[in-house]
Amino acid sequence: MRKTKIICTLGPVTDSPEMLQKLISAGANVFRLNMSHAPHDWIRMIVPRIREVARQTSANIAIMMDTQGPAIRTGDVATQLNLRPGDTVEFTVRGATSEEQYSVDVNYDGLIDDISVGDVVLVDNGNLHMKVLAKDNNRIRCEVLTQGVLGSRRHINLPGVKVNLPPMTEKDLRDIALGVSLEVDYFALSFCREKADVEAMRAELKRLGSDAHIVAKIEDQHAVKFAKDIIAVADAVMVARGDLGIECPMEELPIIQRRIVKTCIKNGTPVIVATHMLESMITNPLPTRAEITDVANAIFEQADAIMLSGETSVGKYPVQCVEIFDRVARRIERSGGAGFAREAVMEGPRQKTVAAAVSLANNFPHAKIVVFTQAGNMAKYVAHLRPHQAQIFAFSPEEAVCRRMALLYGVRAQRMGFLPEPDKNVFAAEAALLLKGLVESGDHLVVVTDIVEGDRRHESVQLRIVP
Ligand code: PEP
Repeated sequence: MRKTKIICTLGPVTDSPEMLQKLISAGANVFRLNMSHAPHDWIRMIVPRIREVARQTSANIAIMMDTQGPAIRTGDVATQLNLRPGDTVEFTVRGATSEEQYSVDVNYDGLIDDISVGDVVLVDNGNLHMKVLAKDNNRIRCEVLTQGVLGSRRHINLPGVKVNLPPMTEKDLRDIALGVSLEVDYFALSFCREKADVEAMRAELKRLGSDAHIVAKIEDQHAVKFAKDIIAVADAVMVARGDLGIECPMEELPIIQRRIVKTCIKNGTPVIVATHMLESMITNPLPTRAEITDVANAIFEQADAIMLSGETSVGKYPVQCVEIFDRVARRIERSGGAGFAREAVMEGPRQKTVAAAVSLANNFPHAKIVVFTQAGNMAKYVAHLRPHQAQIFAFSPEEAVCRRMALLYGVRAQRMGFLPEPDKNVFAAEAALLLKGLVESGDHLVVVTDIVEGDRRHESVQLRIVP
């Protein structure tokens, strides 16, 4: 069993039932819906379709809705602007007009206050570089530094600038309401800058009656600065290397990735490494050696999940990408990992019980861990400690909890109604695992469950041998 989970972004090449089924068979665990591109009709179609294919294939699949977030974007241009070094472009706000040959409106009025003459503006995922020459109340004049094409609704990055936009835009709020109505499992918070942004999304989900989990995307310098606080309050974190690589000096990227993964593992916050992992496979049937090494690095760091974006949403080889992730993960996991979990801080009786269970399992080469978990916390604590060999079988009576566990490192979740007598649950779990061929006679099972003594319940760790 592979421990590192695989997230696939869906798009026009992967939204048919056949392709969803192929991605699941190849090893996908979580499907991501990117709201920068996805219309509501498509979301209303794809969410039930994923649920249906997952049901037919008996797969435990989570759905993540990734919000567009407070990104600065250009407005519409009638025809694309073919820009060359030395050209002048004006960015206008508040509907101001421009006399320049090349001009475009921007969705963020505060741009004028945030930017200074001499600053660099990066447009369209960093493809176009411009330098600010002058500004007045309603427009910024820039010199084009690199050749490129400027189309409608392109993303503008201002490295190092804390953009004064709300954590969720009106569009995000509409998207979140839709996601909640469809019972999406995770919401990714784009351009999360500080812990208050996570709290704002949490409040919105609560207002809508959802207990979906929040993935805070770390993708600019401000978020990197406050990463520790964000990691402490988010349900999961994504190292969103696409924007991060534009917003921060590129050579810092591997250091930032490692620091975030390490802090998450120390803290027990699930962590995803995302973007450009197999970028060349958007058009090529095989990855580059460098891509394989990058994927291997994230697996070696023991991130909970690795993510595919364009590779599976618009690429020519989506299923092959998942197969490559699966192959590399299985191989690298066998060779050992960075072991950041050694620094995990386990507090309170429940976490310490789990620590004892993982330590016990680490002493048996073929042990498996069985954990009963109502809300998913006990399973999360087990995954947090990154058991050396043991697979983690988590049982929960809640369907939504099982789906959320699809993101957790090494956890294979199954729904099971709980009986009042914990012993009976252990027998039922053992029988279910035997039936599926997931354990065999003679295996050591380390079971984390509670035991009942009169009207008292206690946490317990049991070592059992499969009969
Ligand atoms: C990223 O920037 O790496 C990312 C995952 O976000 P998006 O795809 O929304 O730009």
